[in-house]
Amino acid sequence: MAMIFRRERHHSNSDRPWYMLLAREEKGNGVPALFTYHLHDVLTKSGCVMCRLVREREEQWLWNLLYEYTGDPQIHARFADSLGLCGEHAELMRMVVKRRQLVTPSGVARLYDTVSREEISRLSHAGRRGMAKVNECPLCRYRDQAAERKGSFLARSLREEPWWEEYALSDGLCQQHLETVIDQADRSVAKMLRDDHARRLEDLSRLLQELQRKQRYDVSEELTSEEANSWREGLWRFGGMHFDHLLVSD
Ligand SMILES: [Zn+2]
Ligand SMILES: [Zn+2]
Repeated sequence: MAMIFRRERHHSNSDRPWYMLLAREEKGNGVPALFTYHLHDVLTKSGCVMCRLVREREEQWLWNLLYEYTGDPQIHARFADSLGLCGEHAELMRMVVKRRQLVTPSGVARLYDTVSREEISRLSHAGRRGMAKVNECPLCRYRDQAAERKGSFLARSLREEPWWEEYALSDGLCQQHLETVIDQADRSVAKMLRDDHARRLEDLSRLLQELQRKQRYDVSEELTSEEANSWREGLWRFGGMHFDHLLVSD
């Protein structure tokens, strides 16, 4: 036991994964160590890296809202302005209430009671031209801000060669998030991202052609799993990821 304890206490830096070392070194360039640490995990998962990072933030925002802020007058005013959440985020709120602990339907009830009373008042004051919502969905707005922030961290991390190598082995980005990250990147990272994305699309195009060819009635060759899945990649690559389950759990 003593031996093990000593080895654990005196292990050298080279025993640590490289992303832990960079996480500490990168404090100077403004990328939070927590982001860097989590990035390694996300890069090993399927689909767009940014879609995952942003979706996690959306889920956390909803959980925090329902856990702590359903009595906050500013939140109620914000919900009244936007008449609640958009359809996509309302569905995500439903999943969070259903699947996560410590949040209950009564928090949602509290917020949407305010929304309902706001709309009753607007209906009674509406003229012939109808009523416009004052504000967009608060979570749509937060999502866009979160995407910019995560895109900026990712762009800065990709200046480091080990991160770039991990990124190159991952599934990369959807079209929309490619543009988000390029907007935040310096010139050399932006060029690497564009070249890398073009290569991914060339591969995708080849797989899509093979899928079509092998599905012809007069061709009996078997599809590879990459070819069989290529149409799904086309959908998320250009439309973003759709998750039918929560990414953050208790
Ligand atoms: Zn994406
Ligand atoms: Zn929304």
